[in-house]
Amino acid sequence: MVAGCGPAGALVSYLLARAGVPVLVLEKHADFLRDFRGDTIHPSTLEILDELGLAERFLALPHSKVSSVMLRSTSGQSVTFSLSRVPSKFPYIAFVPQWDFLEFLTAEAQRFPAFTLKRNAEAIDLIQSGGVVSGLRYADADGTHEATATLVIGADGRESRTREAAGLPRIESSPPMDVFWFRVSRRGGEPEAVAGRIGAGKLCVMLNRGDYWQVAYLIPKGGADRIRAAGIEAFRRDVASVALELADRVEEIRDWNDVKLLTVRADRLTRWHKPGYLAIGDAAHAMSPIGGVGINIAIHDAVEAANVLWRALREGRVTDADLARVQQRRERAVRIIQAFQSAVQTGFLKPTLESARPATIPLIARIVARLPILRDMPPRLIAFGVSRPHVESPERAG
Ligand SMILES: Cc1cc2nc3c(=O)[nH]c(=O)nc-3n(C[C@H](O)[C@H](O)[C@H](O)COP(=O)(O)OP(=O)(O)OC[C@H]3O[C@@H](n4cnc5c(N)ncnc54)[C@H](O)[C@@H]3O)c2cc1C
Repeated sequence: MVAGCGPAGALVSYLLARAGVPVLVLEKHADFLRDFRGDTIHPSTLEILDELGLAERFLALPHSKVSSVMLRSTSGQSVTFSLSRVPSKFPYIAFVPQWDFLEFLTAEAQRFPAFTLKRNAEAIDLIQSGGVVSGLRYADADGTHEATATLVIGADGRESRTREAAGLPRIESSPPMDVFWFRVSRRGGEPEAVAGRIGAGKLCVMLNRGDYWQVAYLIPKGGADRIRAAGIEAFRRDVASVALELADRVEEIRDWNDVKLLTVRADRLTRWHKPGYLAIGDAAHAMSPIGGVGINIAIHDAVEAANVLWRALREGRVTDADLARVQQRRERAVRIIQAFQSAVQTGFLKPTLESARPATIPLIARIVARLPILRDMPPRLIAFGVSRPHVESPERAG
């Protein structure tokens, strides 16, 4: 059984049910409608959907395609990274609201008789004895229930209750920033790209969601109260001073209710499993938002978990060595991406947020963007991660 139906939980449940493994997935919310999520479906995830025969139907959902990431500073510098040369059938990022993506995946999973999704069902504890997990306690409108399972997969996100109950060792890093998250309208003719804006002590990233921009405005870690205390008018001025094109629209941020705070966290379990339990996705490793890779890394985990486990689960015997293999297949990629995110944070974001001088785009980014031999490396990392898994679990006939 699977706790949590985010990208990791939805896809691992889809794949296991497709291979004929009975799966119960519990989702604590009634729906997937949460604004506080990423929307970026990268080429590697599109390729996985393609391997499953889902890409065409998925891309029929309303979406926008972005094939470049543009950084511009208020001092007039700009660099662009293009995904158009990545070797993929899908050389772009598809922006699909995460709720649409999850509704799509779970609706597709319904065609497998082995798939059951329970909404409004919250995992509250693991059932375990002698260090072995044998099921899950969960609560729904009818009360508290116990369900036994060969394996509990914890895909319940960065605040994972199941990984807490499993008591797995975790190391936490401290990204130097938090994020204010809000929207303003987007005009026809504005760039299709993901737009990064850099000003003196200020940074923001604008994500194209069709008729509006979803804006991530970075602030120094723990600085939210100070910024709120200065008032919404001062905040609007700050936004307009870095995202110059939004100056005539910042009034759309009516008050602080329109501005959500994302406390950025990054961590990683050093052991993703114990007998009868496996953590994947953000439950195993909360990612920093840099590069917008969280969904895609969670999807890669789900694919590898199903690749390794489908046969053992169908036979009803999963060993701890099987679970260790899932971690082995995924951990290196996660560690490399987290190290990359950490280098960007300490080498660029932190000094920029702390500086009062006119902002510049780091020399290294300008060099990389210009040199043909290097310029495709960042887009490739965003497109595929460190390694791109393929679906090895089968679709059970009949
Ligand atoms: C503001 C924000 C912006 C982001 N932007 C991006 C982006 O642009 N691109 C990107 O790739 N990533 C982005 N991310 C990260 C991305 O959303 C996550 O990395 C990704 O969703 C992880 O997937 P997951 O399935 O592991 O966990 P989650 O998406 O967190 O899913 C966990 C699911 O479990 C459910 N759940 C939790 N606890 C329980 C419980 N006890 N019982 C039952 N269900 C439970 C939750 O309701 C949720 O549906 C962003 C994250 C945030 C917060």
